[in-house]
Amino acid sequence: MNSPARPLTSLWMTCVILIHCLVAIPGCIGDTHDPTRQAERDRMVNDQIIPRGIKDQAVLAAMRRIPRHRFVPAFYSAFAYYDNPLPIGHGQTISQPFVVALMSDALALQGAKKVLEIGTGSGYQAAVLAEIVPHVFTIEIVEPLATEAARTLAELGYRNIHIRVGDGYQGWPEEAPFDAIIVTASSEHVPQPLLDQLAVGGRLILPVGKAFQELQELVLYRRTTDGYERTRLSLVRFVPLIRKDQSSQPGER
Ligand code: SAH
Repeated sequence: MNSPARPLTSLWMTCVILIHCLVAIPGCIGDTHDPTRQAERDRMVNDQIIPRGIKDQAVLAAMRRIPRHRFVPAFYSAFAYYDNPLPIGHGQTISQPFVVALMSDALALQGAKKVLEIGTGSGYQAAVLAEIVPHVFTIEIVEPLATEAARTLAELGYRNIHIRVGDGYQGWPEEAPFDAIIVTASSEHVPQPLLDQLAVGGRLILPVGKAFQELQELVLYRRTTDGYERTRLSLVRFVPLIRKDQSSQPGER
């Protein structure tokens, strides 16, 4: 679901948003008068992201630039720049803006050429990556979400994002190695194929925790010449990585 340490159900979240909108109707209407919604994006970066310590200028610039409202269903458009995840259909969510910034920042993308994302969802995180690196590969298991994300990204002119429908657990071996890998759904363990597809010096970030557990731990792996360094970053809340055949999962790392 993609918010740090915030056990909101989507129903409750929807109520909060609706109440917030009723209270803030003049603000909502004022903001949506500007079709570019640049002021809302600037506020999102200035108020939600910079104060929480995100420093990577490329990430901040990408999030100021990308029209996040184009990645959310029309019903939620007014809330596209709020400090929340939002439903995108099929039981899935677009991550909270701060979580997108946190994960992108942790990947230290300067100089990276190829990045792999598991969990395309709305396509927003892929767009952030595509503003920073030349080639983004992203895998989505829910076909209608992949189709919708591909449409949005094409409309916005992204030509450097390659989308595949399938189980991202296996990664994208034909395109490996990747300079960075980001998994935007939680897993009980780190998929070995993803560790294998990481370039030496590359970074992999993912939420690790039991399926349907309230919170997971955001973990960063860096591949060295002789292994992997592991750093625990913070607590987050993500939707689980879907596996077609759970029994084929190897043991926890
Ligand atoms: N990065 C997305 C949000 C991801 S939500 C965005 O920016 O909008 C998690 C996504 O992971 C969902 O769309 C879900 O369908 C997808 N997903 C879950 N399990 C998966 C798997 N095994 N392989 C690929 N995608 C998966």
